Amino acid sequence: MKNGVCPRCHAQTVYSSEKIRNKTGNASTIPLSFLRSIPLDNYVCTNCGYVESYVAEPEMLVHIKDIWSRVEPDQTNPQ
Ligand SMILES: [Zn+2]
Repeated sequence: MKNGVCPRCHAQTVYSSEKIRNKTGNASTIPLSFLRSIPLDNYVCTNCGYVESYVAEPEMLVHIKDIWSRVEPDQTNPQ
């Protein structure tokens, strides 16, 4: 989706909150723990409404690995 193409409807109508993140003060976040939340960059397709979210601060990914539990891949049922 970061390449500007919607993975669902394949339209080239993807808009991102990345450039306005600092101006909006991280309007979109997910909780890391009860003390901290992680800012997200959202990508929205204005054709079908599909949304993808990415952690905006790559250094936070290691904290997620420390705190959250890993989802074990289900070999019998991909996706
Ligand atoms: Zn779409």
